[in-house]
Amino acid sequence: MYHLAVIGSILSLAIPTLGLCRCRPHESCWSSFQDWLALNNSIQGQLVSVRPVAAKCSNVSASWPDPFWRAAEPSAVQWENWEAWPERNQTCYIEDRQNTTCGQGRVSLYPAKVESTSQIQETVAFVKRHNLRLVIKNSGHDFLGRPSAPESLQISTHATKDIENFDKFMPTGAPKDGVGEGPAITIAAGVSITELYAAVSRHNRSVIAGASGSIGAGGGYFQGGGHSVFGVWRGLASDNALESRVVLAEASHQAGHLVYANTFQNTDLFWALRGGGGGSFGIVTSVTLRTHPEVPVVVTNLNITTAGGDPHFWKASPTLNDAGGGGYYLAAPDYPLNETVNVSVMSSVLIFANATNTTHIDSFYNPLQSKLSQVTGTTAN
Ligand SMILES: Cc1cc2nc3c(=O)[nH]c(=O)nc-3n(C[C@H](O)[C@H](O)[C@H](O)COP(=O)(O)OP(=O)(O)OC[C@H]3O[C@@H](n4cnc5c(N)ncnc54)[C@H](O)[C@@H]3O)c2cc1C
Repeated sequence: MYHLAVIGSILSLAIPTLGLCRCRPHESCWSSFQDWLALNNSIQGQLVSVRPVAAKCSNVSASWPDPFWRAAEPSAVQWENWEAWPERNQTCYIEDRQNTTCGQGRVSLYPAKVESTSQIQETVAFVKRHNLRLVIKNSGHDFLGRPSAPESLQISTHATKDIENFDKFMPTGAPKDGVGEGPAITIAAGVSITELYAAVSRHNRSVIAGASGSIGAGGGYFQGGGHSVFGVWRGLASDNALESRVVLAEASHQAGHLVYANTFQNTDLFWALRGGGGGSFGIVTSVTLRTHPEVPVVVTNLNITTAGGDPHFWKASPTLNDAGGGGYYLAAPDYPLNETVNVSVMSSVLIFANATNTTHIDSFYNPLQSKLSQVTGTTAN
């Protein structure tokens, strides 16, 4: 009798749906977005939309070479080799065979994805209290892999994105009756070069910043000097830095203190930050950079090709920087064009800022081009 009652109640639960199909996403009876939202609210936001874990793997595969994804992902740096720890035979590459153990490598054990100065201070205090190894990651572009370290705690500044524009910037501690520094922009450490360019152009201004858009302009870039195509025109990014806010490093007796560094206070620190290299003196939370008027530019491109291994190749190196051009050279003195022919190639892209007169700029190239055209087997265009 007892068993029958149980079976009876099971049947009564099942009866309303017998003979009916469940709603599926492609059917009109499928719950609306608002319905799902209501369920999510009713269970305190615990509803998640998931994909099979294998799909996550294919997402990662697609993003693997994307520098912006690598910048935002605390467990990745831009140069994969710095994620491995060869001394311990630890790697975890997407190309590894599936039965290979995924080792932690040099990837920090605990990243603190900070969003505010106080979170940085808390983390520095924790590091000091617990005697931990600390690294700072902004975009992970560092050629020496310093944003990651084995068994470390990482402060990831990538999510700090505050930007403030000034028509007339007055450094903290400057005399009240001072003239100020003119137009400038203050950016949090995590603002990328792409975000910085977009912000200044909204005010019809330009700024000295680098070529790779995913670099963090307020992190290692300006602290390492910061070169750009406009260097000949307005100097390095560090020459244009007017002030930094810095949480002092855990080795300092003032560890965790927030200080302002500019030409009026903490001047030694300010000097050291402008070229001393990222991660050396503290955690920069923001930097203020001078901005410049938007100016016309002339973009030039010179390609020189000659026989592979020609010893005269290096003599062709143009000295156009003196004429105000800044940019990039690519030189391949003995490049295999195909299986039988090697060539020496030099390609340059130089940008002349605040210039419109192309005839004037051609006059710098013409002597070089006519000299090159007299050399048998050399083409220059
Ligand atoms: C593809 C590519 C293109 C590049 N182009 C240019 C260019 O045009 N011009 C140029 O000058 N350089 C260029 N660089 C070099 C680049 O600017 C440096 O590697 C720079 O250090 C990156 O800084 P980051 O903060 O973005 O990167 P990260 O690798 O995250 O940090 C670099 C160093 O700074 C430290 N650091 C990061 N954030 C902070 C912070 N908030 N406070 C204190 N220390 C911090 C890190 O610990 C690390 O030691 C390029 C690099 C690459 C890979």
